[in-house]
Amino acid sequence: MLTGSDRHDMSIGMMDLTRVQRRIARLQRQLLELGPLHPGSITEQYNVCGQPGCRCKDPKKPQKHGPYYQLSFTWQGKGSTRFLRPEQVEPMRQKVTSYKRLRELVKEWVALEIERERAEREKEKRAGGD
Ligand SMILES: [Zn+2]
Repeated sequence: MLTGSDRHDMSIGMMDLTRVQRRIARLQRQLLELGPLHPGSITEQYNVCGQPGCRCKDPKKPQKHGPYYQLSFTWQGKGSTRFLRPEQVEPMRQKVTSYKRLRELVKEWVALEIERERAEREKEKRAGGD
């Protein structure tokens, strides 16, 4: 049975050097095209307040306050949470998406660099063998 990483290696594996280099160049262009980014995830919250008789504590049909949005992220081992104003939510969603894209691209890049190394050795071996 194949593990996830084995499958990944096979999917890009055994490319010739030119093809690997072309894919790396394309990936670098995609990295440059990334806009503003931010790590983390956005959550939506509804709260109950302390005010007596408020609608949020209605015994029959409580209506909690919200939604409130917050961004949570961990960076260099330190976790942070920030509240977002409604107009900040959409731009932050885009930043969070771009950050995920960055992580995917970097992962792919590293995989391709490992493949480049292999392809270079292969090429040298063939050149030396003749
Ligand atoms: Zn309330």
